[in-house]
Amino acid sequence: MEKANKTAIYYARYYEMKKERQNPLFQEDEEGNSLKYVPVPVPTKWVTGSGSKVIALFHKGGKNIVCPHFWELKAWIGCPFECSYCYLQGTFRGAERKKPKMKKEDDIKRYMEEFLSWADDAGLITLLNSGELADSLAIPNFVRKLIEIATPLLRNHPDHMILLLSKGGENHVKVLEDVPEDLRKRFIASFSINPQVIVDKYERGTASTESRIKAAEIAGYMGFRVRIRIDPIVPVAAGGESWIFHYEMLIEELLNKVKPEIITLGSLRALKKTIHYASDKSWLEYTSEESPWGKRVKNRQKIYKLIIELLRDKGFNGKVGLCKETPGVWEYLKREGLMEDPGEPGV
Ligand code: SF4
Repeated sequence: MEKANKTAIYYARYYEMKKERQNPLFQEDEEGNSLKYVPVPVPTKWVTGSGSKVIALFHKGGKNIVCPHFWELKAWIGCPFECSYCYLQGTFRGAERKKPKMKKEDDIKRYMEEFLSWADDAGLITLLNSGELADSLAIPNFVRKLIEIATPLLRNHPDHMILLLSKGGENHVKVLEDVPEDLRKRFIASFSINPQVIVDKYERGTASTESRIKAAEIAGYMGFRVRIRIDPIVPVAAGGESWIFHYEMLIEELLNKVKPEIITLGSLRALKKTIHYASDKSWLEYTSEESPWGKRVKNRQKIYKLIIELLRDKGFNGKVGLCKETPGVWEYLKREGLMEDPGEPGV
């Protein structure tokens, strides 16, 4: 029997709590400040215990990084693509990146059911992120199996969703036809894109830029919610053009075809382990600034500023987010009128 210790707290935002639980939880504290988060104690099982091999709380952002807690869905770990900068190279010495293996079907079913029942009892609305430790669409047979397992569970637990994050393209979205039409809004298909010069240089084996954008367009037509990540931004000048030229072309091509609900920006994150295990280290030439999340691109706040301005100029009105950034970078962009308050770092 699993110990009932409460080892971690999930800080839920108001939209992650069921309506009936939103009041009076989101009231004011004694000083009249409105409470932004509801602390939800999480059983050990979903932190380091048995269930965490399938669903785990991600709460490692730390005090100097803005990275809201989220739920990792680990039906499999790893990815057949070979991005030079991939973080998975530093996990398990890269072994699982190269040989993705699906967890036992019975375990996935059991722990998803148990987790969603716990979340229902806690009043939580959850988004299960299947793309933190894997590419969510790279292996169609795994995706097919996950859809088969998740379909009855999502029907029985109507407040929860699954996030699929991929550098796959048109061929990789075909399997999403298996998702029953009435459940498609319960999946968010998120595509990570970069200009083709960066795909050629650092994202071996992934779909072309054009194909990823096409895949996002197809997923939208199919009825899925669509998000985009422009991450990691790498300021590569190529073909006689500056880095910003390549991103301007990318954004134009994207927004001509796709209306994402959110665009998240990020830049290279060179953690010590990633650097150690990366076989191609050429991308490190762009990382020179120490940060609480590894070495990063210098002056990246200016890079984000230029990209957000391009997104707005080209008509994107949706929300822009940042991935694993420092409060300093957020504050700079907030002062420039380009970002909203990020919330509290470390929660
Ligand atoms: S697609 Fe994602 S998970 Fe796969 S190698 Fe590239 S960065 Fe890693």
